[in-house]
Amino acid sequence: MLLDGKVAVVTGAGSGVGRASALRFAAEGARVVCADISLDGAEETVREIEKLERPDGPGGPSGAAARAVAVRCDVSVEADVAGALEHAAERFGTLDIVFNNAGVPTPRLGAKLEDHSVEDFDRLVAVNLRGVFLGSKHAVLRFKRQGGGGVILNTGSVAGIVAWGGSVYGATKGGVHQLTRAVAIEGAPFGIRANAICPAGMPYTGFMTAGGMGSDEETTAALARQTGANHPLGRPITAEDCAEAAVFLVSDRAANITGVLLPVDGGYLAR
Ligand code: ADP
Repeated sequence: MLLDGKVAVVTGAGSGVGRASALRFAAEGARVVCADISLDGAEETVREIEKLERPDGPGGPSGAAARAVAVRCDVSVEADVAGALEHAAERFGTLDIVFNNAGVPTPRLGAKLEDHSVEDFDRLVAVNLRGVFLGSKHAVLRFKRQGGGGVILNTGSVAGIVAWGGSVYGATKGGVHQLTRAVAIEGAPFGIRANAICPAGMPYTGFMTAGGMGSDEETTAALARQTGANHPLGRPITAEDCAEAAVFLVSDRAANITGVLLPVDGGYLAR
C-alpha cells in the first residue's frame, strides 16, 4: 500500500476532491483527519472510510482502531487550522501529509471581474489563498518540530495557469501555485515536499450550488459542453481523477518530486 502507516489531514474532506482523496488515502493505508467547515460532510466521509475493507482484515494488526476522524475546521481561521493539525498528531501520534484542498468557487457562474463585490473577493482570498497559507505554515512548523520530512499538497487549478473559470478565483489559484513553489524551495533542505494538483472542468457539487453556481444539473451540463469542446480527452474531470493524482504526489513514489503543478485536465493545457 502506498500510504501504509502515514497520517494525513485533508481539508475540504466533506465533499468532492477532498472526500475522494480522503477515501483513496485511507484505502492506501493512511489514517486520515477529515477537516471541513461542514462537520456533517466530514463525518459522512469518515463513515464511508470505515466501510472500506480493511486490508489486514478485521482481526489484523490495525484491529478495530479508527482510521479516520472528522473535525470542523474553517481553513480561513488560523486557530482552526492549527487545531486540525494538532488533532492529527495527538490522535495518531504524528503527521506526515497535509492536503490543503478546501476552496470556494467563483460566486456566480460566468461572473466577470466587474461582477465581483469586495466581499466576494475577500471571501475567495480568505478561503482559497489564506487557507493554503495557514495549512502550509502549520504543516511546516510541525514537520520541522518532528525533525523534517513531510508532504504538503495543495489544490490549485487550471484557472491559476490560464484565464479560465473566473478572474478572482483564478487569481487565488495563481497565488496557491506560487505559494506551492516557494514552500517547495524553503522546505527542501528539511526534506519537506510541496506540490499542487490543478484540476479543470469538474462537474459541480452541492456545495458549489449553495455558493450560487446554479443547479448541479445546469452547471454540470454547461461544463460537459465546455469540456467536450475544449478537453482533448472529451470528458469532465472527476473527483476520483484528482484523488489518483493526489495519492501519487503524497506517496513515496513521488519522493523526488517537489514544486510541481500537475494539471488534471484531460489535455486542456496541451492545446
Ligand atoms: P470540489 O468539487 O472542487 O472538491 P466541493 O465544493 O465539492 O469542491 O468541496 C469543497 C469542500 O470545501 C466542501 O466540503 C466545503 O464544505 C469545504 N469548504 C468550503 N469552505 C471551507 C472553509 N472555509 N474551511 C473548510 N472547508 C471549507
